[in-house]
Amino acid sequence: MPAAQPKEGIGFELYVAAALKTEPQKLDGRSLDLTEFYFNINPRTYPRGLTKAGYDVTVDITASKDNVEYLIECKSSKHRDQILDLNDSQFLKSMLEFLALEMLSEQTKWDFCYILATNYPVAKEIATLGQEGSTRQVERLRNALIGFGCKEHGETFNSGATSARRIVKVLRTLVCLELPDQYLRLKMSSDSEYRKNYETFSSRLKHLDLTLSQDGPAQVRRFQTVSFLCKSSSHEKCRNIPTDGMICHVGNIDSFTSELEPFRKRNETGIRMIRASQLGFSVNDVDYPRNVSTKEVSESITIALNSLIGDACLLYIVPGTFDVLLIDREIMVEKIKRCFDLHTLKYELDTVKEMRGLGASLKISAARFILSSYHLSCDEDDFISNEDANEHDV
Ligand SMILES: [Zn+2]
Repeated sequence: MPAAQPKEGIGFELYVAAALKTEPQKLDGRSLDLTEFYFNINPRTYPRGLTKAGYDVTVDITASKDNVEYLIECKSSKHRDQILDLNDSQFLKSMLEFLALEMLSEQTKWDFCYILATNYPVAKEIATLGQEGSTRQVERLRNALIGFGCKEHGETFNSGATSARRIVKVLRTLVCLELPDQYLRLKMSSDSEYRKNYETFSSRLKHLDLTLSQDGPAQVRRFQTVSFLCKSSSHEKCRNIPTDGMICHVGNIDSFTSELEPFRKRNETGIRMIRASQLGFSVNDVDYPRNVSTKEVSESITIALNSLIGDACLLYIVPGTFDVLLIDREIMVEKIKRCFDLHTLKYELDTVKEMRGLGASLKISAARFILSSYHLSCDEDDFISNEDANEHDV
């Protein structure tokens, strides 16, 4: 594969993420090792109401492990002689983002660290300001930030976000990481691990929805992506299924359906639990952003699989374990309808013997799902089950 060229815009983020994931980065005298971290290249936006800074913040990449989260801003330029200095609007913009996040970290006690990654040099004064910056220099930067913030964000801008104390705190933890184009090109052409990481991140970033706003450039809306059973780097047989605000990226569906086939033929009771391992996969074959709950993930996979396998049967993916409930829709709709109690006006799911052992929570979710496939929408309150989950911890 020919080495791709680092370029401006969204592509540079992928090169940065791959570099940090592949090997520790040397910074003057110390090492930054994020190789064991989980990278999210579609991070969520921290809204202004949450940070209290008066503007929304979306960093380019986050990398998290245990309770530490690195928030990474990427700035690239195709001009070789450019230097990122204190008055540069790119620097001021990044600083305002970091300051807002620092405000959030003060409220939440989350452990945030900041990285500014560039493909061109960062002025020495930025690196030294945090260490030995004079009050006068910090004050100068503060004025520049306030001027820039008011211009960018108008009246909602909270100039309190840029207190001198907070600026110094951010600058002290800020890592400026220069990753020149030549270095990235070399990694791409000579380091297979780097290329693999790059391709993984790239596949996660594929799902961009470009909508033209009226007066500005294209707005990029990022979908959260759930990946299921994808082991491929070419993604030739993979399918992307839009599901309720997310994209479910499904790997080889044909091999999944053939694993399922023998179970489908022997589903006399109408509902049957099949372990993920019995179908040849495990939780490791499911990949999703940290901020998405396992319930949302299982819902996304459920929708995607049912749209891919057609009407032969219904599948419900169990949150957490990703085991599969195989459901004969005709049989189960009847059974559930029949357990509706005319006195309590609820579905008494514990009287459906085919569902015994699933536990209350899974019974209710599955029953809602089965009825919804018949366009009957119900709330959780419409169902009664008091059964402990003795077969599954959900
Ligand atoms: Zn794939």
